[in-house]
Amino acid sequence: MKQQLSVDLLCLYCQQKLKGENNRSYQPGDSIKCDACGKPNDYDRVIEVAQQKAIEFIKSQTGGEIDITIDKPDEK
Ligand SMILES: [Zn+2]
Repeated sequence: MKQQLSVDLLCLYCQQKLKGENNRSYQPGDSIKCDACGKPNDYDRVIEVAQQKAIEFIKSQTGGEIDITIDKPDEK
């Protein structure tokens, strides 16, 4: 069974959900402007936080009996 976990990207400053700009894909090194507070969020940092949240969630679901590592794709 395939399971999917989606984690919202949150503003690092005000914790509101980041929507990003329509029809725009973000790359490492970009910044995502927060609609709520207007501050630019470092894309890499936002992803890192989201990954940590996903890991915490999975650990809470499995009683912590799991080691998770995320291999980032090589930057080109
Ligand atoms: Zn914000």
